[in-house]
Amino acid sequence: MTLAEAQARVDGWIGRFEEGYWPPLAILARLIEEVGELAREVNHRFGAKPKRDDEDPRELELEIADVLFVLLCLANERGIDLDAAFERVMDKYEERDAGRWTPREPSGGSPGQRTR
Ligand SMILES: [Mg+2]
Repeated sequence: MTLAEAQARVDGWIGRFEEGYWPPLAILARLIEEVGELAREVNHRFGAKPKRDDEDPRELELEIADVLFVLLCLANERGIDLDAAFERVMDKYEERDAGRWTPREPSGGSPGQRTR
């Protein structure tokens, strides 16, 4: 799924309701709520605050996707093309930070799940 497809899917969902998109500040507040839920889960998993026995574990990937959903709502509400915006952001990082990090060996595997 491309970002444009994700934006279209969110737009289809939101478009089913009279309320439509919330105003930007309300969406931002919702984004902060979701970032908080993500932070809580990351803190439980990797930080010093384990969950109580009566707290359900949440799926980390779903908390990340919750954040993405709200970002897609904000972009849609503002009429922003996230494919184009993300291209610009990656161009920025690839140019600005090209020599910043240690190059990985060709057989270095996935950059995910490294331990630091
Ligand atoms: Mg959440």
